[in-house]
Amino acid sequence: MSHALLAPSSAHRWLTCPPSARLEKQFPDVETTAAAEGTFAHLYAETTLQHFYKRSDVNTESLKENKFYDGNLEENVAVYTDTVIEKFNRAKSKDKGAALYLEKEFDLSEFVPASYGHADAVIICDDSIEVIDLKYGAGVAVRAKDNPQLRLYALGVYSELSFLYDDIKQVTVTIIQPRNGGISSDTLTVDELLDWGEKIKPIAQMAYVGDGDFKAGEHCKFCKAANRCKALAEYQMKAVKTDFDDPDLLTDEELVEILATADETIKWLNNVTEYMLNETLQNGKRWEGFKLVAGRSTRKIVDAEKAAEILKDNGGTDEQIWKPKELLGITALEKNFGKKKLAEMLKPVIEKPAGAPTLVPVTDPREELHNVQNDFDKLEES
Ligand code: SF4
Repeated sequence: MSHALLAPSSAHRWLTCPPSARLEKQFPDVETTAAAEGTFAHLYAETTLQHFYKRSDVNTESLKENKFYDGNLEENVAVYTDTVIEKFNRAKSKDKGAALYLEKEFDLSEFVPASYGHADAVIICDDSIEVIDLKYGAGVAVRAKDNPQLRLYALGVYSELSFLYDDIKQVTVTIIQPRNGGISSDTLTVDELLDWGEKIKPIAQMAYVGDGDFKAGEHCKFCKAANRCKALAEYQMKAVKTDFDDPDLLTDEELVEILATADETIKWLNNVTEYMLNETLQNGKRWEGFKLVAGRSTRKIVDAEKAAEILKDNGGTDEQIWKPKELLGITALEKNFGKKKLAEMLKPVIEKPAGAPTLVPVTDPREELHNVQNDFDKLEES
């Protein structure tokens, strides 16, 4: 699927760091497994809805052979399709002329140069539009409030449809993320939306020509330039480069400063290391002062049945040779039976023990363990 240089899906990045869009062009598109799974989930969702509304004869049966299909995916996608169906039913009960558009394409070039996209589902009812977006990712929670991607979808959809529905006054954007956080919405008037569109126009123009200042932050996570970007390297090395007060020992404050950025810095360092290794493996790139060697490896039995036969011939018993039968882990069982169904079936035999103590920022929503020794004793007992 081709993407505009300033695609709505990367808007958070190019609105925060305008030159990133042009810089990213220097790096190839690599489709991750998570992205491929997301594309399949969208196809499954669209096929379900098109068939449900009798707009297509194709049902989801043909998709069940796909490597990404399992009970879990069906259950998760159903959170989105059921919500769309429910919202459209409600819209039709309020307004007989309510309309549902699926995979609605739009042109955004009035606000963002050469940009376009499509919205998963759009419901028009009375004087309002609702744009609904399925997010299949589980890693990063995405919310609808002030979300630039969804606002661009809303701008694009409004621009496409306002000539057909000239009394639209209000726009709601909804994100359905079944695997991380569920459903969230944000509503604004058409005037607020158009004002926002005018505000981002100069930034979009700057991003289109590659002007503006580089700005690193959490938006760098999916930037294709991240492994070679100087602004991000400087940002990540900030903790390491702190001018320490005491010449010998770090103060508490300095340790806290290091801990606050440690997770992010470790991830970045791992990504850079992996990028450099891949450059060598795939493109033969040599790095000054480094060489490619075989990593450490452990011995493994390549033919388990044959090995068991030999051990048995030499007097081994089944108990000495084979592992006891073991239940699959919860994640694997969820894949086979579906998350909801498994939770219902195994309710009497599932418990969630307390996790090991960990230091997290004070903004983390989990309750603080106060009396460390007592709380830790309780954890050990449980
Ligand atoms: S990695 Fe971050 S700072 Fe660098 S170009 Fe990408 S978004 Fe901008």
